[in-house]
Amino acid sequence: MTQPFIDFIAQSPSAFHAAAAAADRLEAEGFSRSALLGDDAHAPGGHLNVRDGAVVAWWVPENARPRFRVVGSHTDSPGLMAKPDPDVLREGFRQVAVEVYGGPILASWFDRDLTFAGRVVTADRTEHLVNTGPVARVPNLAIHLYRGDMPEIDRQVHTQSVLGEDRPLVELAAESAGIDAEDIVAHELITADAQRGEILGDMLAAGRLDNLTSMWASLQALLAAKDQAEHQAGDILVLAAFNHEEVGSASTAGAGGPLLERVLTKVAAGFGDPAEIIANSIQVSADAAHAVHPNYPGKHDPTHHPLINRGPVLKINANQRYASNAATEAEWILACRAAGVPHQTFVGNNAVPCGSTIGPISSTRLGLPTVDVGVPLLSMHSARELCGVDDMDYFVRALSAFYAGAR
Ligand SMILES: [Zn+2]
Repeated sequence: MTQPFIDFIAQSPSAFHAAAAAADRLEAEGFSRSALLGDDAHAPGGHLNVRDGAVVAWWVPENARPRFRVVGSHTDSPGLMAKPDPDVLREGFRQVAVEVYGGPILASWFDRDLTFAGRVVTADRTEHLVNTGPVARVPNLAIHLYRGDMPEIDRQVHTQSVLGEDRPLVELAAESAGIDAEDIVAHELITADAQRGEILGDMLAAGRLDNLTSMWASLQALLAAKDQAEHQAGDILVLAAFNHEEVGSASTAGAGGPLLERVLTKVAAGFGDPAEIIANSIQVSADAAHAVHPNYPGKHDPTHHPLINRGPVLKINANQRYASNAATEAEWILACRAAGVPHQTFVGNNAVPCGSTIGPISSTRLGLPTVDVGVPLLSMHSARELCGVDDMDYFVRALSAFYAGAR
């Protein structure tokens, strides 16, 4: 299943592409897309809602009972976002002024062949997906021109990318979308590594593994589980992939926004009291996890060492940076057992900061019991990250078992 995943990564250079790629796949599998949540939102079958780089899909089985099984993830990844007026002309170069989006490992974005991808809106108020293909580069300074360590990266000055040809970015964007540059009124375009994912033995190197690993695995799992849902307990299966996780989730399309709440409330209303139903449901918050780095093992807790290709990682944090609790952890561990998949646990080293996910945000917002899990990565937030091939297979199987309510 690695090549289809590499294809999905290539199709998803931006959050908007990732949401569209997932939605297209779900639509092809019979999910019906609608911008509005009609009164038939709880009708048996597949439903789909896409908005601003986020996607929520839900499958209502024929024998549905009022309980949700949600897998939440995110569509966005760190990168360099083109500024509103991005054109800079300097020293004979056409450059693109960028804003740093999220927390990229900046040095890793230098000397990569970069595409600009995202969406543009034209004067007729329609959205167009844009993927320019490799057009830009943030060149390193030649080592001969400094002594000692590389000079510190200035986030404003040194991140401006160089275009390979002397044409405005908007023109390149228009050409890739098959529209006229003059028609573009506004844009959201972010850099992405233009190189395809590469299999390195038992590992996979690619851009945006955080968090396309989770998005793709949850998509596979939903499609596998939906046809079994009638034979299982009849839980309603939900996939929610949010935008803007890398910048704190506070947006209409982020986990802090109303997207999932609207869907769950609307669907639950067909069965009973939405708040009660949501409180009786469960969410897996799926996001990349930290594998132990062989050169920096001291960054981890000495007795919790998640390794590549040893199974998905359950993430626990007493200070609620992750939403897992004993009840939801047990659900996850039992799903892994039912799937015959090994699992591992991450807890932070007290002297080292740890990340967070959509888990605490959406569980707090909705009162939805949640467990945080994910595929272990190295180089998280690099332009090219690294994960295990077996872990992707394990993760799909564990999420499928979770959706199926397998015991
Ligand atoms: Zn993430």
